[in-house]
Amino acid sequence: MIFGPGRRNNETGVRNNRTEAHDNETGAGQFNHQFDDKGDRPVFCERCAALTRRLTWDPLAEPHAELLIGSCIWMDERCRDWCSDCTDKVKELFHLRYQITVGDSVPPEAVRYFLELEKQFPNWPLFRPERRSPGIADKVRRMVRHNLKRACIELEKMDREYRKREAEQTEEHRTSG
Ligand SMILES: [Zn+2]
Repeated sequence: MIFGPGRRNNETGVRNNRTEAHDNETGAGQFNHQFDDKGDRPVFCERCAALTRRLTWDPLAEPHAELLIGSCIWMDERCRDWCSDCTDKVKELFHLRYQITVGDSVPPEAVRYFLELEKQFPNWPLFRPERRSPGIADKVRRMVRHNLKRACIELEKMDREYRKREAEQTEEHRTSG
């Protein structure tokens, strides 16, 4: 994974890095190395970038946890018409926002990447400050964990049912044979 161990106070972490991002223009090189991205066009292809710029904030949008992304997502942040490449790449960004929100350790170049994208897509609701505010950290953490737990319970249930069916089938074979 791209994220190292240890914890950092998120609020100050982001603010410090915000100034750092402005001061250190050469940071991009480091970021490219870390994220293996293509410099000037991170995350989106041209078409999807245009789609993203058209996304508008819905004040009534509610967050929901996405198991495969490990993040909370608001419906107005995603575009159905993104190509599958971009849909895939953007997952990392949603997860990054989650880590920033809950105060997980995030390397400075990841924060720079995040803030750089914010400059490119200032109206993308993904970047709304209240959606990464430390004030909602507990809420989104709870939601994501709850979602994960529920998925695990579902899996266990499916596993039990599978085993039960298998046992029943074995039993049937034995009695019929
Ligand atoms: Zn695309």
